[in-house]
Amino acid sequence: MTQTDIRKVAVAIADRGYDILIGGGLIAGAGREIAARLPGIRAAIVTDENVAGRHLAALKEGLEAAGIAGQVLTVMPGEATKRFEVLEKVVDGILEARLERGDAVIALGGGVVGDLAGFASGIVRRGMHLVQVPTSLLAQVDSSVGGKTGINTPRGKNLVGVFKQPALVLADIDALDTLPPREFAAGYAEIVKYGLIDKPDFFAWLEDNRAAVFSGGSARSEAIAVSCRAKAEIVARDEMENGDRALLNLGHTFGHALEAATRFDGTRLVHGEGVAIGLALAHRFSARLGLAPQQDAERVEAHLAAAGLPCRLSDVPGGLPSAEVLMDYIAQDKKVSRGTLTFILTRGIGRAFIARDVAPVDVLGFLRENLEP
Ligand code: NAD
Ligand code: ZN
Repeated sequence: MTQTDIRKVAVAIADRGYDILIGGGLIAGAGREIAARLPGIRAAIVTDENVAGRHLAALKEGLEAAGIAGQVLTVMPGEATKRFEVLEKVVDGILEARLERGDAVIALGGGVVGDLAGFASGIVRRGMHLVQVPTSLLAQVDSSVGGKTGINTPRGKNLVGVFKQPALVLADIDALDTLPPREFAAGYAEIVKYGLIDKPDFFAWLEDNRAAVFSGGSARSEAIAVSCRAKAEIVARDEMENGDRALLNLGHTFGHALEAATRFDGTRLVHGEGVAIGLALAHRFSARLGLAPQQDAERVEAHLAAAGLPCRLSDVPGGLPSAEVLMDYIAQDKKVSRGTLTFILTRGIGRAFIARDVAPVDVLGFLRENLEP
C-alpha cells in the first residue's frame, strides 16, 4: 500500500525533538521511515494479539524490505497486560534477541502496548530507541504523544514508569478501520477535549466535520494532526507535569472517579467514555458555579451525544454508587490540599483553566443533583 496524504507534526522537546507522521499506509511504510531516521538498527516489535492479526504482517514486510530485522513479542490485549510480569517477559524477549542500546523497540498497538513497550524501551540497557506505531485512536491522539510510559500495580494505575520520548511516531489512519466502533468513539472524546481546552475553532470544526472524521480520509487525518499538535504544544511547555500539562486532565477527574466506580472493568465504561461524561460534567459544573455559559455546557453535551458517547451519570450502565462514594474516588485521585480540590474548570468552550480552590462540598452537591434520575 502506498502512503497517502501524510501530515507531519514536529514535537519540540529540548534536544529530543521528533516527528509524528499521520496518514494512510504508514504501517506498511514504517520500515522506510524508520530506516531513514535510525539507519542500521534492529528492532523488537511489541504488539497485542488483536493488532497482530490485522497489522503485523504489513509492518514486518515493510521492515524487511528496508533491511530491518524484527523480533516479534506478542502480549495479550487488555489493561491487565500493563503489569510487572508482562514487562519482565517483554524485557527478556528484547534481551534474548540480543538488541543493543542503539536498537529500537517498536510499539504496534493501542495505549496498553505503547505504555508497556515504551517503558521497556526506557529501561532495557538504560534506554533504547522507541518507535510508536499507535493503532487505536486514543493512542494516536493521546498516549503515543508526550513521552509518558508505564504499568499499573495492584495499588493503582500507571504508578510505575518513566518519561521516554519516542524517536518517531507513525499514526496510520487506515489502521483505525479495524478498530471496534466503541473504541473509536472513546478516542474521539480525547479529540473533543483538545478543542475544549483552548481551541474553540477546532471544536466548532468538529461539530461540522464529526461524521467525516468517523468515516476516515482527510478529515480524520486533520483531527488527529490538530490533536497531536495540541498535546505536543502543552507537553513542550511542561514536559514533567509541573503546570500547564494538568489542562490535559480536563474531564478526567470525574472520568477517573467513574472508571474507579465501575472497577475499570472495561465493559461498563472504557476510559474515553468516562472522559466524555467527565467533559460534559466539567462544563456543567463550571456553568453551575457561574463560571461558564450554560449553553456551552449544552453544546458540549449535544456534540458528545451525537458522536455516540455517554455524557450523563445516568448513561453509565448498571448504576453508580452514591455521591459520597464518588467523592471519595475524586479525593483519592486528586489529593485534597488544605481542604480544597484542584480541578480543571472552564469559562466556556476553549477556555479551560486550572482551579486550585474548588470546595469539595460544591462537588458533592453537584454530584447529588446529577445522580438524581
Ligand atoms: P488498548 O491498547 O487496550 O486498545 C483498545 C482495544 O483495541 C484493545 O483490545 C486492542 O487490542 C484493540 N486495538 C487496538 N488497535 C486496534 C486496531 N487497529 N484494530 C483492532 N483492534 C485494535 O487501549 P487504548 O484505549 O488504546 O489505550 C488505553 C491505555 O492507554 C490505558 O492503559 C491508559 O492508561 C493509556 N494511556 C496512556 C497515556 C500516556 O500518556 N502514556 C495517555 C492516555 C492513556
Ligand atoms: Zn484520557
